[in-house]
Amino acid sequence: MKRNEFIKLARTITRPFCVSNGEKFRLKHFDPADTLNFSSEDKPRAKEALAAGVELLAEMQDRLYAQDKWAVLLIFQAMDAAGKDGAIKHVMSGVNPQGCQVYSFKAPSAEDLDHDYLWRCLKRLPNRGDIGIFNRSYYEETLVVRVHPEILGKQRLPRELVGKDVWQNRFRDIRAFERYLAGNGIVVVKFFLNVSKKEQKRRFLERLETPEKNWKFSSADLAERSHWNEYQQAYEDMIRHTATKHAPWYVVPADNKWFTRCVVAAAVIDTLESLNLQYPAVSPEQLKKLAAAKKELLKK
Ligand code: ATP
Ligand code: MG
Repeated sequence: MKRNEFIKLARTITRPFCVSNGEKFRLKHFDPADTLNFSSEDKPRAKEALAAGVELLAEMQDRLYAQDKWAVLLIFQAMDAAGKDGAIKHVMSGVNPQGCQVYSFKAPSAEDLDHDYLWRCLKRLPNRGDIGIFNRSYYEETLVVRVHPEILGKQRLPRELVGKDVWQNRFRDIRAFERYLAGNGIVVVKFFLNVSKKEQKRRFLERLETPEKNWKFSSADLAERSHWNEYQQAYEDMIRHTATKHAPWYVVPADNKWFTRCVVAAAVIDTLESLNLQYPAVSPEQLKKLAAAKKELLKK
C-alpha cells in the first residue's frame, strides 16, 4: 500500500473513536468489542498492517526528532488488564528509544503528596522532538481518587479548598493545563482503552491459570473490579469534560487486542501526519559548507 493510502486508512480507522468534543459523550455508545468492518479472519492482515504502521511511525518519529519543534504526549488510561502495556509495547516497538520516554504513574509517593497533583507529571513531560508516554497520568486524580474519596482525604489539601465542586475544578484545571501544553507545541493525545467487564474477567482468569502470567495478577485489581460501575461513570464524566479539539480522547475498543493496537498506531500516525513534519531545510550557505567539507575529507 502506498504511503498516502496508508495514512488515509489510518484516518478512517481512528475517526469513529475520536472524541474531540465531550459534551454529548456517552460511554454506552462505544462497544468494547467493536472491530469496525473487520472480522477475526482479518487478524493476520491486521498484524501485517500494524507492522507497516510501526515502520511508518519510526520514519515519522525520525522527522519529529530532527525538526526538534513539537513534542507529542500520549496518555493511556484504562481499567486493569485492558492492554495498556501491550499496546504501548507493540505500537512503539519500532521507534528510536532515544526520542521516546515511557513513564508509569503509580500511587503517589510521600514526596509527590508534598506537592500539587500535576507536579510529578510536569517533571515527565516530553522534550521537543520527543514522544512521551504516560502509562496512567494526572487523570487518576479524577478516577481512582474519585472512586475512593478516602484517597482525597489523605492528600493534605487545605480542607476549605475541597468542596463538592472538587471534580469540576479538576476538569477545569486539566482543560486549562492541556490548552497551555497545546499552545507550547506539546501535542496531547489521550487513549481510553475500553474493555468490557466480561473480557476483563477472562483476562484475569488467564492470569491466574497461566504460570507465566501469574505475576501480572494482583488481588488489588480484583478489588477495583468490584467498583466497575463507579469507574465507568468516572471515565464517562472525565471524557465528557476533557475531550477537546486540542487534546482529544480516543475511546479504543479493547476486547480484541489486535484491533486495539491497530487503532492506537493509526491514531499516533494520524497525529504525527497532521504536524507536517519535515527534516530541517539546509540553506544555500550550509550546502556550500557541506560541499567544502566533503572536498576536504576526500583530499586526505
Ligand atoms: P498497571 O496496573 O497500570 O498495569 P502496575 O500494576 O504495574 O500498573 P500498580 O502498582 O497497580 O502498578 O500501580 C498503579 C496503581 O497506582 C493503580 O491502582 C492506580 O490507580 C494507582 N495510582 C496512580 N495514580 C494515582 C494517584 N494519583 N492517586 C492514587 N493512586 C494512583
Ligand atoms: Mg496494577
